[in-house]
Formats: sequence, structure tokens, C-alpha cells
Amino acid sequence: MKPKKIPMRMCVGCREMKPKRELIRVVRAPDGTVSLDATGKKAGRGAYVCRSAVCLGRAIKQKQLERQLEVQLSEETAAALTATLAELKALPPEPEADA
Ligand SMILES: [Zn+2]
Repeated sequence: MKPKKIPMRMCVGCREMKPKRELIRVVRAPDGTVSLDATGKKAGRGAYVCRSAVCLGRAIKQKQLERQLEVQLSEETAAALTATLAELKALPPEPEADA
């Protein structure tokens, strides 16, 4: 039995590499809407941030999310992402389904 390789992704807020399951995916759907993807399975272009309001806030303020997703974030969208993260933070990380 080989040890399982942990998929790593970079948080666009603090720019640290972390295990994917500790991060949350932000996805730009084909129709241009941006949302948090708690399951990691939504279609579209994705970026990852820590499950932290600090990292998400930084990613939004420093336009890292916009750059990564190639999209303009409205204030409404940014506020919705922050609110969704606050809800998700109460939940444990999703188990890796595709590993
Ligand atoms: Zn981070």
C-alpha cells in the first residue's frame, strides 16, 4: 500500500500551499456567476482560498480572485461569498470523494 498523495492547492489570499480539503473552492460558472463551491464539483474556472474570512477578504481586496477567475467581482458578489464562507466554516471539511 502506497501512502495516499494529498492534493495541494494554493490559497489566493495568503498564497500558501495547503491540502485541498482544507481550502474552499471559488468557482466562476460558465454563465459568469461566482460562488463558493463546498463540494469541489461545480463546473467552471476555480480558485482556492483557506476557510478563513481573512484569506477570502484579502483575495477579494487584492483582486487575486478576479485575476485567477478572470472575472469582475461586484460588491454584492463579494459580500455573498463572505456570507457563504461564514456558513460553511461551521461545517467540517468535505471528505475527499475523488481521491
Ligand atoms: Zn489562506
